[in-house]
Amino acid sequence: MSNNEDRHSVGAGYQQGDESERYVREGATAGTAACLLCPQHCPLRPGQIGRCRARGNKEGAVVSLTYGEVAAMHLDPIEKKPLYHFYPGSDIFSVAGYGCNLSCSFCQNHEISQARHEGHRVSPAELAQLAGDSLGLCFTYSEPSVWYEMIRETAPLVKAQGGKVVLVSNGTLAGPYLEDLIPWIDAVNIDIKGFNQEFYQKFCGGELSWVLENVERLAGRVYLEVTTLIIPGANDDPAEIRGLARWLEDLKVTVPWHLSRYFPAYRLNLPPTEPKALETLWQIARERLPYVYLGNVSGGSSTFCPRCGEEVIEREGYVIRTRLREGHCPQCGTEIFGVGM
Ligand code: SF4
Repeated sequence: MSNNEDRHSVGAGYQQGDESERYVREGATAGTAACLLCPQHCPLRPGQIGRCRARGNKEGAVVSLTYGEVAAMHLDPIEKKPLYHFYPGSDIFSVAGYGCNLSCSFCQNHEISQARHEGHRVSPAELAQLAGDSLGLCFTYSEPSVWYEMIRETAPLVKAQGGKVVLVSNGTLAGPYLEDLIPWIDAVNIDIKGFNQEFYQKFCGGELSWVLENVERLAGRVYLEVTTLIIPGANDDPAEIRGLARWLEDLKVTVPWHLSRYFPAYRLNLPPTEPKALETLWQIARERLPYVYLGNVSGGSSTFCPRCGEEVIEREGYVIRTRLREGHCPQCGTEIFGVGM
């Protein structure tokens, strides 16, 4: 382990002596240190690695094992995150470290989320520079929150150069750490993987309540969209989709919602979601919410004015044609929700 890893650890790093230190020490018992970065609260003996594979106990202290190690980076359309009402048509530099604190059997990025390899090494300054000409920097592909120190150190640099900082996350992060990130984050897409606790436990190794609490924490404070991958027979009960639509409506802020088609991946080999079934759930969600989109199918990705029904942003794949006039519907003048529209 390098000196870098020693320095960049929750409780012993760049914020030495602050609140974050408390979260490690409170959980420590003789010979173990509890990582409290996320609600999994892994108890770690010296030399042991946490369930996210990104953090471990080194000589009694919980440290990041992946600091500065990049698993993937690409320039992506913002629509790929997906974010449909945040600077539509922009490209954003996107990056991932290794690891994830959930273990979804259907993970589409399991090569980097459920494994640990030597990554390409970058510093926060280099990463901010790479983001330079695009909209900003997006932490995505695997679970960004287990790369907490990299986000916390890179985000201020990106913002200082006028860029936006985006997270695509499973929403499983301890509240105090998310609070610490919020001032540095512009937009988030959270996966709510199902509206059913049993599903979260069986398929993801997580808890629905952890995620819902963080969506509530973020709502109205950063720009927010939500994604649900619809898996046949697992999380596609119309009553649950109706329940989640109602829950999102009750947040009292507009939250665009993406319902994506499942294809077999990693350890789950169910048949792909029927497009017709996805469309039925889409209609149910649209009874409550003005902006609901389909993913991984053709159609269902354009934006319509919630007042007059005019198509205001047409999307075909990642090709965008906007008809907005300074963020307003060209037909009836209604303001269309979003940022940088
Ligand atoms: S961040 Fe990783 S090591 Fe820490 S509690 Fe979560 S899963 Fe465990």
